[in-house]
Amino acid sequence: MKLTGKVAMIIGGTSGLGEATSKRFAEEGAHVIVAGRDREAGDRIVRDITDQGGRAVFAELDVTDADSVKRAVRKAADTCGTIDILYNGAGIHDGYKDVTETDEELFDKLMAVNVKGAFLVTKEIMPIFLKKGRGTIINIGSQSTFVAGAGGSTYVTSKHAIAGFTKQLSYDFGQKGIKVNLIAPGFIDTPMTEGIDDSRLKDIPAGRAGKPEEIAAAALFLASDESDYMQGSEMKVDGGWTVGR
Ligand code: NAD
Repeated sequence: MKLTGKVAMIIGGTSGLGEATSKRFAEEGAHVIVAGRDREAGDRIVRDITDQGGRAVFAELDVTDADSVKRAVRKAADTCGTIDILYNGAGIHDGYKDVTETDEELFDKLMAVNVKGAFLVTKEIMPIFLKKGRGTIINIGSQSTFVAGAGGSTYVTSKHAIAGFTKQLSYDFGQKGIKVNLIAPGFIDTPMTEGIDDSRLKDIPAGRAGKPEEIAAAALFLASDESDYMQGSEMKVDGGWTVGR
């Protein structure tokens, strides 16, 4: 039970990697705030957790909307007493569109979810962390944080940007007790990758796609005290996707 007594807000918790992380954190004793847009999925995940004896609540939010983020964070902190861990996992993909195929609307929408969303949520939660002198942030990057080709031009740009955000947060707030790191998942079986038959998978050292639970395990490590000397780091959990490219 590595997270007993901790409150974890899982942004993008209603599906894929966020769902697996919500469930794993609850198993480890955290009070989990499953945050996202999909109330039906959120309620189902909360039920799954509480049926297993865990603690969880759903928080409805759209990460691109500052008011919605503000309301959700305040309500969640009131309901759970505080927030100790923020997992910034909301994200959308651009369908591998290159710059000529990308219109301004797609660019703005993707950057609003993948980059501005993390900014808005972090901005809202940081004062809670600073007041306590302690807090943990886990941002979700991608193999696209390091290399081209696992997304189109906007997705890859956004996942590089989130690494910069991670570093600067760590630089600004590390000495104030805030631990900030990034996980860079490879190709993981989730709704985001459904239907994508990526022939490159057979070339990677692991020879297969990853499972959401394998990202949740990495998130647990970064959320727990065992990673307390990690700051601003980029943890690859990609089956070796990026080593030979
Ligand atoms: P997913 O589609 O299952 O999950 C994405 C989550 O983001 C969903 O819960 C969705 O509701 C939420 N979301 C999207 N827009 C939102 C908004 N405006 N407000 C609130 N929530 C919003 O996909 P996933 O694979 O679990 O992706 C999770 C994260 O992992 C993303 O940041 C993605 O870029 C990243 N990632 C995934 C993979 C992969 O192979 N699956 C690889 C690298 C990185």
